[in-house]
Amino acid sequence: MVSEKTDIAPDTILVGIGASPGIAIGESYLLDRARARAVERPIRPEEVEREIGAFLDAVSLSKKQLEEVKERVADPQMAEHLYIIDTHLLILEDQMLVDDTIRLIKENMINAEGALKRVLRRFREVFDRIEDEYLRERRTDIDSIGDRLLRNLIGEEQQSLTEVGRKVIIIAHDLSPADTMQMDKERIIGFVTDVGGRTSHTAILGRSLGIPAVLGLETVTGVVPDGLPIILDGTNGTVILNPSPETFREYLDKKQAFEYQERELLAFRNLAAETLDGFRVALRSNVEVIEEIPLAINQGAEGIGLFRTEFLYMNRFTPPTEEEQVEIFREIISKMAPHPVTIRTLDVGGDKLVPEIDLSDEANPAMGLRGVRFSLNEVRLFKVQLRAILRASSYGQVRVMFPMISGMAEISACKKFLMESAEELKNRGIDFDPEIKIGIMVETPSAALIADRLAREVDFFSVGTNDLIQYCLAVDRGNEHVAYLYQPMHPAVLKALQMVAMAASEAGIEVGICGEMAGDPLYALVLLGLGFRELSMNAPGIPRVKQILRQVTHHDGVRLVKDLLKMNTAGEITSHLEKEMYRRFPQLFSVQPI
Ligand code: PEP
Ligand code: MG
Repeated sequence: MVSEKTDIAPDTILVGIGASPGIAIGESYLLDRARARAVERPIRPEEVEREIGAFLDAVSLSKKQLEEVKERVADPQMAEHLYIIDTHLLILEDQMLVDDTIRLIKENMINAEGALKRVLRRFREVFDRIEDEYLRERRTDIDSIGDRLLRNLIGEEQQSLTEVGRKVIIIAHDLSPADTMQMDKERIIGFVTDVGGRTSHTAILGRSLGIPAVLGLETVTGVVPDGLPIILDGTNGTVILNPSPETFREYLDKKQAFEYQERELLAFRNLAAETLDGFRVALRSNVEVIEEIPLAINQGAEGIGLFRTEFLYMNRFTPPTEEEQVEIFREIISKMAPHPVTIRTLDVGGDKLVPEIDLSDEANPAMGLRGVRFSLNEVRLFKVQLRAILRASSYGQVRVMFPMISGMAEISACKKFLMESAEELKNRGIDFDPEIKIGIMVETPSAALIADRLAREVDFFSVGTNDLIQYCLAVDRGNEHVAYLYQPMHPAVLKALQMVAMAASEAGIEVGICGEMAGDPLYALVLLGLGFRELSMNAPGIPRVKQILRQVTHHDGVRLVKDLLKMNTAGEITSHLEKEMYRRFPQLFSVQPI
C-alpha cells in the first residue's frame, strides 16, 4: 500500500485523540479548510452603513445555508441531532454577536470582517478560561459559525463534503457539526482533524454515525497530502501514514476483529443484563448532555443512572430557569421512557466550575463548597432546580439524587427543601410525583462509614467511586503526580464498597455505582459479587459489561470478592483480578497479565 509519490516514510505514526472507535483504511482527501482570514481595516464614515449591511447579509446567508443543511440531512439517525444546527442558528441570533459587531463597526470605524473577528476573539477567550472539557469544546461551535460568517462576508466558497465522489478518509483542519451530519458512510470512511476533542459535537456525531475518527492532531493538514494511503485507528487515536504491506495486513486483521466484536456486542443490545443464575443488574448510562441520549438508547441503556446537571449551568452567564430545566428534563425522560432517569442536583465546585458562580479562590476546592454544600448555601438556586426536577417527575420515572452528602443533617436539609418546593408547586396547582424516589451519592468516606444510618433516610444509594476513591485514599483524582496511588482496588476502597452495599441490602434499598469503575469490564464481576444492582456508565461501555455479566453467576462474583478481601495490597488484588478475568474472558482482555 506504500505510495511511491511521497517522501513520507512508510509507517509514519501520528497520535491524536481517539474520538470515534473503529479502523479505517483508505486514501486521504485533504479538505482545504484553513480558517478564513479576515483583514481588519479602518473605514470612512460614509462606509459604515455599507459594512453593517454586508455583515447583516452574511448573517442572513449563513442562516439560509444552515436551513438548507437541515433539509438535506438524509440519514434518519441524524435527525435526532438536528438541534445542533438549531444551536448554531441561535448563535447567529445572539445579541452579543450581532449587536457588538455592529457597535464595533460604528464606534471603532473598522470594517465588518475586523469587527466580527474581534467579537469572536472575545467569545473564544471566555471559553478558553473554562476548565471543563465539554464546555471548552463548545468553543468549536462558535469557531464553526464564525468561520461560516467570515467566509460569507469575504465571499469565499467553502469546499463541501458533498463533492467527495469516492471512498476516502477526510483530513481537515476542523469539521463543523453541519459537515459531519451530512457525511455519507459509504463515501466517508473516516475523518481526521487538526482541532477538536472527544466531547466536541463533531466527535459525538462521528460516534453516533459509527465513522472512525481521530481528532486534535494539531498539524495533520500540513503533513498529509491528498491521495496518501493511510490507516486511522479511532480506538487508540493513531493515524499511520503510508503503511507498509505488513502494517496494512496487520490492520486489516484488526479491522475485521473489531467489526466482528462490534456485531457480536450488538447482539447483546436487547438482551437483559442477567447472570447465569438469574441475578439481574440494571445497566444505565451517565449523561452530561442531551446529545448523548441516542447513543445511550443505541447501546441498550435501561435508563439514565446519572444525569450531571452542572452542564446546564456551564455554557452560559446566568443560571437556567425552572422552565428551561423542566424542558430539558422532560425531553430526556420522554426519550428514555419507560426507563427511569436519575437527575443529580447541581454538583459544582471541585474541578467543575461554572462561570457565574465564583468559587475559584478556594484553597482546597475538592474539600470546599462543592456539591450539596453549595446548594444548601444557595437555597434560591437549589429550589429552582428542585421544583424543575419535581415538575419533570410528572412526565415519567424520575429519581432525584444529592451529591457529596457527608452526613445525616445534609439529607434532612435536602429533604426539607424538596418538601418546601413540592408545597410551592402544589400551591401553584402544578403536577409532580409525590412518591418521587430520593437518593444520595455515596462518595465521601463519612457517608460510607455511616451508610447503615443514611440508608434509613433514602430510597437509593449510588456510589460515586471517582470521588470515593479520591477521598478514601487522599489522592487528587486529577493530579498526574499521584495518579499511581489512585487505586480502585485498594483494600480500603473494596471494604468501603462492601460496607455500602451491605448497608443498602440490610435496609432494603437500591444500590448502584455511577463512577467510572462501573463501566470498566475488569470490575464487572467484583461489583456483581459485592451486590451492586445498578451500574451506570458512559454508554459505549454497556455492551461489554453486559457480555461479562451474562456469562457468570452471582456466586462467581461472591467467591471472587471473598478471595480479594483477604489480600493486603492494591497490587495483589489487581493482579489476581486481572488473571481471573483474563482466564474467563481471553477475547475481552486481550493482553495477558504478567
Ligand atoms: C463520582 O464521583 O464517581 C461521580 C460519578 O460523580 P462526578 O464524577 O461527577 O464527581
Ligand atoms: Mg462525584
